[in-house]
Amino acid sequence: MTVAVVLYTSDLRVHDHPPLRAALDGAQEVVPLFVRDPAVDRAGFAAANRLAFLADCLVDLDRALGERGGRLVVRKGDTVSEVRALVRQTEADEVHLAGGVTAFARAREERLRKVLEEDGCRLYVHDGVVDVVPPGDVTPQGSDHFAVFTPYYRRWAGEPLRTPLSAPREVRVPTGVRSERMPRRSGIADVSPGLAAGGESEGRKRLASWLTAHGDAYEQRHDDLAGDVTSRLSPYLHFGAVSALEAVQRARKRGGAGAEAFVRQLCWRDFHRQVLAARPGAAGADYRPRHDRWRRGAGAEADLAAWREGRTGYPVVDAAMRQLAHEGWMHNRGRLLTASFLTKTLYIDWREGARHFLDLLVDGDVANNQLNWQWVAGTGTDSRPHRVLNPVLQGKRYDPDGVYVRRWVPELAGLGAPAVHEPWRLSGLDRAAYDYPDPLIGLSDGLERFRRGRGTS
Ligand SMILES: Cc1cc2nc3c(=O)[nH]c(=O)nc-3n(C[C@H](O)[C@H](O)[C@H](O)COP(=O)(O)OP(=O)(O)OC[C@H]3O[C@@H](n4cnc5c(N)ncnc54)[C@H](O)[C@@H]3O)c2cc1C
Repeated sequence: MTVAVVLYTSDLRVHDHPPLRAALDGAQEVVPLFVRDPAVDRAGFAAANRLAFLADCLVDLDRALGERGGRLVVRKGDTVSEVRALVRQTEADEVHLAGGVTAFARAREERLRKVLEEDGCRLYVHDGVVDVVPPGDVTPQGSDHFAVFTPYYRRWAGEPLRTPLSAPREVRVPTGVRSERMPRRSGIADVSPGLAAGGESEGRKRLASWLTAHGDAYEQRHDDLAGDVTSRLSPYLHFGAVSALEAVQRARKRGGAGAEAFVRQLCWRDFHRQVLAARPGAAGADYRPRHDRWRRGAGAEADLAAWREGRTGYPVVDAAMRQLAHEGWMHNRGRLLTASFLTKTLYIDWREGARHFLDLLVDGDVANNQLNWQWVAGTGTDSRPHRVLNPVLQGKRYDPDGVYVRRWVPELAGLGAPAVHEPWRLSGLDRAAYDYPDPLIGLSDGLERFRRGRGTS
């Protein structure tokens, strides 16, 4: 019997899965493996919401493989040692894995390659599993990556794409391979109460129903905070429960301006991945240093705590921060305006905000989170790095009826729009009726402090 191992990482699905397909083509038996590696926890990425979503994904993957005669093998420990032990036990001659872009994923790949070579086993790293167009496939002249989105998008959109692969009919797993028990969401503490259910089945249902219900309206309504009509596919894409390439192909098949706008957003995901692949250090260091003198000390700490807890006194900022705590997810417009508020109005280091997002976001992703934070902070790829979003205008524009604010900030439930976006303007007794804080800082004072700190005033 020939045996191959498929090492699952951020690709927890059976549909459109090139490593699984290649393993099944090359071997009679396959071990689908997922390793819970404590090194990932130590790196600070084991947030409760993501662990809960991951548990759902693993259970669903095990079920999908079970329907095909197989199962998922789960191990705990150092990934490289676990793969090696399994290869030795099953006498596998191939290991298949999706390519990653983080420094962690790259180092793991290198270690695996070395160790497996010693055992005479081949490692196949597959591109285009997690992304649509792999990093490095499109580059500008004279550079290893695009630093500006629009020219990247033009090239990316013209790339020929493969047809999504169907799920295999049969997966035969060798007998006698030990597995840990499947983790369960119910065993994980501190999960956000409104966290979505994970798994490939759930993700595929969502993709299909969202394209039908909201695909056409996406272009006009993607910024409508209360309408909530974006796909909410980000956690499924983060864990690879849905293939980004299949999402693009299905949206294109549907056609129309809404579907194309959705595809463009998926391109942002690849854009950040190709930046991180070329500059792994950008996960923590400024991509374009602006010589910021970020605020530190007790005042900054108190402001940061108020921001985290959703009590800055700016209703739309607080609404979005509370949505994050409750759902482990936040609308993109909310992410933009809360990040701008922290890094510019409060002039606090983007890394503090990115850390808090990673602690809570179910889709928390090194490439997308860190590089979007840098984009907003102006240390990343934004061509207008010093722009500051005004949270009052943002609230009035993207939540004109105040529905989103009242949904998440119940203290202000009695206020209509536009007053709900500026409760400090109420006078005397009217203001006193609302148990809601005054703004941490006036917007023009915040703007001046930011310009001084950054040296642009
Ligand atoms: C400060 C900040 C932090 C962010 N952190 C993350 C993160 O950790 N993980 C994450 O997946 N996204 C992150 N984003 C990007 C974006 O906000 C989310 O992908 C989006 O809100 C998810 O909702 P959705 O699936 O309904 O998106 P849709 O609008 O339906 O878009 C479809 C898909 O396109 C991708 N996408 C959309 N916008 C972006 C973007 N700006 N950058 C990269 N990909 C995008 C996502 O995969 C998304 O699921 C962040 C944005 C900001 C401003």
